[in-house]
Amino acid sequence: MTLPSTPSVPSVSPIDAAVTNMFDQAHLHWSDMLKRNNLNRKTVNDAQTQVLQTLANAVEICSSFMDSETATSLTNKKIGDFIGISLYFDEFGTVNPLGQSSATNKIMGCYFRVNNFPIELQDTDLIFLGFLALAIDVKQEDFQELLKNLLLPQLHDLENGIDVPYKGEMKKMPVILLNLLGDNLGIHQCSGYTTYFAGDVSCRLCYGTAADLKLKWALNEFQLKTAENYDRITDRNDCVGLEGHGIKYYCTFNRLEHFHVVDATCVDMMHDLMEGHLKRLLIYIIRSIVNDNATPTTLEDINNAITSFPCAGELARNKPQKFFLDHVRKGEIKQSTAKSILNITLYLPLILNQAHIAVTTTNNWYKLYLYFLGILDILLMPNIPKDRLPRLQIQIQTYLKHYIQYGGHMTVKPHLTLHYADVIKRFGSLIHSWSMAFEAKHKAFKEYERNNKNHKDLAMTLAQRIQEQNVPLYENMANGNFLVFIN
Ligand SMILES: [Zn+2]
Repeated sequence: MTLPSTPSVPSVSPIDAAVTNMFDQAHLHWSDMLKRNNLNRKTVNDAQTQVLQTLANAVEICSSFMDSETATSLTNKKIGDFIGISLYFDEFGTVNPLGQSSATNKIMGCYFRVNNFPIELQDTDLIFLGFLALAIDVKQEDFQELLKNLLLPQLHDLENGIDVPYKGEMKKMPVILLNLLGDNLGIHQCSGYTTYFAGDVSCRLCYGTAADLKLKWALNEFQLKTAENYDRITDRNDCVGLEGHGIKYYCTFNRLEHFHVVDATCVDMMHDLMEGHLKRLLIYIIRSIVNDNATPTTLEDINNAITSFPCAGELARNKPQKFFLDHVRKGEIKQSTAKSILNITLYLPLILNQAHIAVTTTNNWYKLYLYFLGILDILLMPNIPKDRLPRLQIQIQTYLKHYIQYGGHMTVKPHLTLHYADVIKRFGSLIHSWSMAFEAKHKAFKEYERNNKNHKDLAMTLAQRIQEQNVPLYENMANGNFLVFIN
């Protein structure tokens, strides 16, 4: 009896074999991780390829984001047309915020959005799930492992391109990770930066210390972080002992060909302003009006003006809230939604005027607030002309200079506004990258969890639920009816 001859095996170079092996291993790692972390993986590979492949029309329409400096430089780097994605990381509580269960049931959510969609389509429906995990399971090293073994291999494959029908023919189009979004903690965690904001390096964009940024208001007084410097310091190593430079881990995503954590650093206007700086600024304004001896206004007068203001439409859904005496005393508004804070900031002059509350022309805080509203108008524009940015930078510096001079409380949040013009130049208007739309995604989870009342396998349950909800959207994408469906 003769044995069949051994089939010839194609020769594989050692490097190719090593890379293949690494990704095979990664697959094993993450399947183990799924069990260990009760993690659901309904994700970048499963849903997103379908999502991305339906982009033919959207890529051709192109959002204003694709005119930004980062997108243009990638297009010029022989890559040609590409699909750009952003990853968003945030933790959210799913149960009663009081008590121990809030910590055990906190979820770390990762979502992605496609930057090529025009702004009109950039809403909650077109934010897709990356993964959900119990936050308690993915702290520190575990989180880095999760990024390395779950997301990195998928992003690496996507960089090599996916087939999309584009301009009348099938084209291999690379999918490139452009930036990492989230609140300050989320961005620092996924970038591998330290998460201690009161230390030597509290800002992810410059080397300003917590003490520096309490006093300095001009960008040229801070040394900016650069990709070259990052590479020199880290040497692509494990970054032990680099906390003094603000680096805890070498950024996992730097292993991608077209991504560098320093160039990809972004800001989040919602957390910086609506959930940060404005909560203090508004209190300074209210105090200045109430304490102005030239006018007899009381806190009650202002609150009556707010509650009697006729709200309609979007404003009625996120009504400006009253100011509590306790918050005014302590100097910061607590427990208010970002949208409600944005609305009171935008409408306060109208609210006061409607109630015939006069503010004296010598009220410096109020004058500074009106100056800030001019800045906010620019920041909320969906498309900011590039030649407007130098003036925006000067306006922000002028604002911060006076804010510090008047004794305003400085933290990293108002300091980050100094970097806004630069980030807008790189990625386009900040309302394309803020957390508003992503946070709305959490809201649906919380509502579902409240009805569900089952906290076992929570990450899996919620991920399953969101994918089921998206089935009609995926079906329409698969049938080529996507844009029709959206309309
Ligand atoms: Zn800075």
